[in-house]
Amino acid sequence: MSQHSKAYHQPGRDIPLLGEWDVIVVGGGPSGCAAAIASARRGSKTLLVEKYCFLGGSPAAQFVCCILSTNGLDFQGIWHEWAARLAKYDAIAPLTRSPVRFYPQTQWFRSSPTPEGVKRVWEELVTESGAEILYLTALCGVCRDADSVTGVLVHTRAGVRALMAKRVIDASGDGVVCQEAGVAWNRGAKDKLWSQEVSMMYRRGGESAPGSEGAPPPGTGCTMAFLPERLNRVDRLRVDTLDPVALSATIGDMRREIWRQSDDYPDGTYLVDVATEIGVRTSRIVQGLEQIGEDQAWEFHKSPSGIARSSWELDIHPPDDAPIPERWFHSKSALYAERAARVQAGEYFDIPYRCLVPAGVDQLLVAGRIVSASYLAHGSLRIQQTCMATGEAAGTAAAMSIEAGLTPRELDPVRVASQVAEDRSKVGPAFEILRDLPLTK
Ligand SMILES: Cc1cc2nc3c(=O)[nH]c(=O)nc-3n(C[C@H](O)[C@H](O)[C@H](O)COP(=O)(O)OP(=O)(O)OC[C@H]3O[C@@H](n4cnc5c(N)ncnc54)[C@H](O)[C@@H]3O)c2cc1C
Repeated sequence: MSQHSKAYHQPGRDIPLLGEWDVIVVGGGPSGCAAAIASARRGSKTLLVEKYCFLGGSPAAQFVCCILSTNGLDFQGIWHEWAARLAKYDAIAPLTRSPVRFYPQTQWFRSSPTPEGVKRVWEELVTESGAEILYLTALCGVCRDADSVTGVLVHTRAGVRALMAKRVIDASGDGVVCQEAGVAWNRGAKDKLWSQEVSMMYRRGGESAPGSEGAPPPGTGCTMAFLPERLNRVDRLRVDTLDPVALSATIGDMRREIWRQSDDYPDGTYLVDVATEIGVRTSRIVQGLEQIGEDQAWEFHKSPSGIARSSWELDIHPPDDAPIPERWFHSKSALYAERAARVQAGEYFDIPYRCLVPAGVDQLLVAGRIVSASYLAHGSLRIQQTCMATGEAAGTAAAMSIEAGLTPRELDPVRVASQVAEDRSKVGPAFEILRDLPLTK
């Protein structure tokens, strides 16, 4: 197979309509679930579209079952409701704090949910909010009227269908709506087709599995909540995650490596399962009305329209064997250590509202790891808690813009920020250990 440079022209056709909503959210990961909940809670008729038959996104499909934070400021709003519900089902490990290998003066919060718990809790919270869920439905196009998105085209079990909406939120992790709508995006890494290392996670079980006692296994740092199972992973460099042919070859290669390794496991140790989907840290980063620059992230820029705070590491997993810049977490540099100490002391950078508003196309918002940011800022804000926070803000803004009869672009960014802060101030911390941290404005 090779990439085709030619195109197939599809003759005009009528596509059956499945329904109309106020807000459609594409992607049921951490950001999309939070967006759907926030939108529905404000009274908007909301639909959440998900290509798999479960919610959760990367923790459910890719086994990214690690909760990590540097100083706790990225635990916000709906995150606490989600974590508290997981705790009710014994599906999340206690939040603990411990030093980091590279930078011993820094301590991280760590926890881990189970994939099944994640699916269950999101489905409950989304349903309770009044939002509808459409499973096994993959976005394949957008409906447009001039510069505005008016709905989405999806592939369902019944074939292609049109879903109409006043607002659409792209929470797909890959910016698939923005791609179809013609919004500009980039891969973060300049002049490279690969943005970050890709990983295939798998679960290994049994009493003697590496890391089943004591220190976490190399390369993961996480255990499954309460289970005699460990998360492990194999990694690959120089992978273009937007090249379907190359990605498929990589997936097969990684899975074969995991299967081969499992042939040699010691007695009593076993391969539980390999994740449904390959773990892609970065694919598209969307161009918004505003962008968090490299310096803004490095220097902890604050904004009056900040709708989320990012205090996680500047965590870019090197995509190849080029020298690692000093400003990256993995550099082990003294410069980075100085910044890490400031984060430990409570520093963070803000994500301004207009980073969720794509440039050039109206009635569209983005949330999660695709929000408008430089490579460095993206390395930090892509963690799940922050994705939930941008999702919560996007859902709130979508509903507010309908109420006000304005486009998301026309909304007052400071009003959105203060509404989101007010909503979050009503939610108590999920874990006792976070109780004394300044989580809200
Ligand atoms: C290997 C790896 C390790 C990581 N480690 C951590 C960690 O330790 N801690 C942490 O917090 N974060 C970690 N992350 C980052 C984090 O998991 C992601 O950045 C985060 O989950 C992104 O959330 P999201 O909602 O933007 O997207 P996703 O979680 O990717 O969710 C997107 C959803 O959209 C759906 N979707 C995609 N395309 C379509 C379509 N065409 N139609 C319909 N639905 C669609 C997907 O099925 C998915 O449910 C890691 C990521 C990777 C890959």
